[in-house]
Amino acid sequence: FLTGKTAVVTGSNSGIGLGVATELARAGANIVLNSFTDRDEDHALAEKLGKEFGVTARYIQADMSKGDQCRALVEKAGSCDILVNNAGIQHVAPIPEFPTDKWDAIIAINLSSAFHTTAAALPMMRKAGWGRVINIASAHGLTASPFKSAYVAAKHGVVGLTKVTALETAEEPITANAICPGYVLTPLVEAQIPDTMKEYKMTREEVVRNVLLTRQPSKQFATVEELGGTAVFLCSNAAAQITGTTISVDGGWTAL
Ligand code: NAD
Repeated sequence: FLTGKTAVVTGSNSGIGLGVATELARAGANIVLNSFTDRDEDHALAEKLGKEFGVTARYIQADMSKGDQCRALVEKAGSCDILVNNAGIQHVAPIPEFPTDKWDAIIAINLSSAFHTTAAALPMMRKAGWGRVINIASAHGLTASPFKSAYVAAKHGVVGLTKVTALETAEEPITANAICPGYVLTPLVEAQIPDTMKEYKMTREEVVRNVLLTRQPSKQFATVEELGGTAVFLCSNAAAQITGTTISVDGGWTAL
């Protein structure tokens, strides 16, 4: 049902972004994949997606820590009916030791990039007469954990930006929502296991069950396919009046 629509998914050469892009392609959307790298394998990923689902798929390199490159990504895409702000990084440290450069990078990539891409995409959506802004926030957009100051601040910011985007487009056939995943086993989560092991002096297994999934009552990771399915739902007619809100895909985390 998304045939003829173009979806731009930031940070989509791995993890949730790739999962969301895959499900949108399965639903018929043309896809723009993105990350900051420009490797043959990035372009090959887009080619594979295009062939598998019979859609147009391109990879456009852009660094989401740079405002002008965020805007250029959307402009180079040419059209942007569905914007998925997904690029994100993490760093785990107590506030007094939290490196300033990490703070700045997390705020830029996880929050400010969504402002820049949205600013570039809304005029295109208005021209096309239809649009979907889907921000990948986090359970950490609604709750907090120690040692994740920048990430939690950025993700709460994303939820706020989502609400403002929804209000500014409320009378138009455009919606803006945030998906708030709990833990999904992607490279981002893999990468924080060693630091968390050190922080809590725990084994990998203890970190997975007692730290990562301690607040996920289902005791299961959410999957990238489930997040992709949620994004597809937000693009459906059934979701036309869902705007300015969050959808948790977190195994019950935020019910605790
Ligand atoms: P990931 O590391 O697999 O993917 C992150 C993506 O962002 C990659 O494609 C990476 O190349 C890209 N990226 C990083 N820096 C970039 C930059 N400067 N410019 C462009 N692209 C850049 O991680 P993921 O787990 O798939 O995370 C995707 C999003 O989902 C993030 O916003 C993350 O905060 C959010 N999230 C993840 C989880 C989880 O448990 N994995 C939970 C909640 C929210």
